[in-house]
Amino acid sequence: MSSREYQICKCCVMDTSDDLIEFDENGVCMRCNEYKNRILPSWNHGNGHEQELAAVLSDIKRKGVGKKYDCILGFSGGLDSSYLLHLAVKEWGLRPYVFHIDAGWNLPIAEQNIKKMTDKLGVELHVEKMNWDEMREMQLAWLRAGLNDLDSPQDHAFIALIDRLSIELGVKYILNGYNISTEIVADPSSWLKEGIHTGDGKFMKDVIKKYCNIRIKDYTFTSGFKHKVWIPYVLGVKTLKLLNLVPFTKQEMIDTLASEYGYIPYGQKHFEDLLTKFLEGYWMPHNFGHDIRRAQLSSLVVTGQMTRDEALEILSNPPLDDSECQELAKDVADKLDITVDELMKLLDMPRTTEHFKSNEFLYKLGTRIFEILGAEKRIRK
Ligand SMILES: [Zn+2]
Repeated sequence: MSSREYQICKCCVMDTSDDLIEFDENGVCMRCNEYKNRILPSWNHGNGHEQELAAVLSDIKRKGVGKKYDCILGFSGGLDSSYLLHLAVKEWGLRPYVFHIDAGWNLPIAEQNIKKMTDKLGVELHVEKMNWDEMREMQLAWLRAGLNDLDSPQDHAFIALIDRLSIELGVKYILNGYNISTEIVADPSSWLKEGIHTGDGKFMKDVIKKYCNIRIKDYTFTSGFKHKVWIPYVLGVKTLKLLNLVPFTKQEMIDTLASEYGYIPYGQKHFEDLLTKFLEGYWMPHNFGHDIRRAQLSSLVVTGQMTRDEALEILSNPPLDDSECQELAKDVADKLDITVDELMKLLDMPRTTEHFKSNEFLYKLGTRIFEILGAEKRIRK
């Protein structure tokens, strides 16, 4: 936590738990200003993009003629990818290759939602089941290393699989569930160790080499070069964020999915996954004062889906109560085959300052190019 005086934005609920937050003379944070000046005018709450959407959909269908699939969609069972799957198949008539990564942490409620949706939509679900011995060892390695990004072994696998599939299937479009409506205020970068990018295979391999006690052989890696240069620019595979071209609110997403598929919401973003639920619901707020709901609720506040007072009211209570946290800690420890005590000791270790190899320059360059082209529709701070 920073030693600066506490301050919270007058418009959203971001505060000085983000060390890098800046405020203008009216006490409004830079994220709010950037949203108002740069994002909102072109996004317009998803309104007025009908022609752009129709053109993209027709391109996807045209390039998919004669192929089994016309796009790739990674389906976590979370709200965003679920709504995207619904639109893609039911509303837009696309034929996505739908895949799901089973890294061993899915909660039963997520598995049920996934099954309900794919059954009703009649889409084949391709499940990539990770080698659990390797996943467990990697997860322990991240804990032993004192790294903050404890969900990286899962997240990197997801990115790497998309990269592998886009090469193997020869499909030119990837549908990405990112959306301004619920995600425009991103998690502060100051909450993570500087220079770590989930898609960076060089970083992943270095941590594995230094901290894993078994050989990792089944895990799929990607690299900064493959992910940022080869696939998008040489193979011409486009990642599309089509949710930004349609108007919806978070509540409308939930209502649509509930009435069409009997979808049951998880209560908080990423709570479909045991590990992430524990990390974001307990560990990050408890150990560092980093409450990820601040960013999620701020997205809803700036986009007019919730008042600031409603968000503050939600934040006045912890994400999970004590007994839920204890239960989750036990489940996570059991799954990792260690005791709750051992898990807590690992989580309480000081965060590492160790240098790991990485391709950070490629990521910086990529982000800079996007900024120059004005194509970056995310507020990264
Ligand atoms: Zn703000």
